[in-house]
Amino acid sequence: MNNFYRRLILYPLAPLNGDPPRLQQFLRKIGFVADKWHFQNQDYYLAGDRFFNAVMFLGCAPHINTRPSAAGELPDNFVAIKLAVKCYQSMVFYPGKPAFTLLCRFCKKDIGFPAVSNLSAMVDCPHCGQVNSLLEKNYRHQAGISNYFIEIMGIFEGEAVPSDALMTGLARESNGKWNYFYADDKAMKTWPIVSV
Ligand SMILES: [Zn+2]
Repeated sequence: MNNFYRRLILYPLAPLNGDPPRLQQFLRKIGFVADKWHFQNQDYYLAGDRFFNAVMFLGCAPHINTRPSAAGELPDNFVAIKLAVKCYQSMVFYPGKPAFTLLCRFCKKDIGFPAVSNLSAMVDCPHCGQVNSLLEKNYRHQAGISNYFIEIMGIFEGEAVPSDALMTGLARESNGKWNYFYADDKAMKTWPIVSV
């Protein structure tokens, strides 16, 4: 069961100006999502019939299940998709997996993720001394900053990546590039989603 809360998250780099329901129509049209599905007081979508064209599993992937059992239980390696109905009012920092690896914008070395509660803090790079903002977007698929997130539930870090076709389609629909990261529930207890 626990695995269901590990997720692959897609997000636009610039604030999504469009309308999430329109984006959801697009995701349904390309077969990424199918019907709505309610589980433990949350709304999700079941994977569509072309889900595996949108999400590419790497290496020796386990058999992925896209339908809950008749009794409503989650089979092993079950995936579903969570699509927010609305955008956040501003950009938010969504933590994926601490400890974050933040790369220095100048020397590209790892400067770690300092234990500060204020994400607008500036950090001196221990390697080159240049000042970095924690809001730089170089989290190496461990966190994301955006106003909208598509969460693909049931995927371990590095187990699967979004296909080029999906990312290109999202970019075209929203007039801007998208990126992705991995998350689990533990991260969100340490670093809640915060406005930036
Ligand atoms: Zn540096």
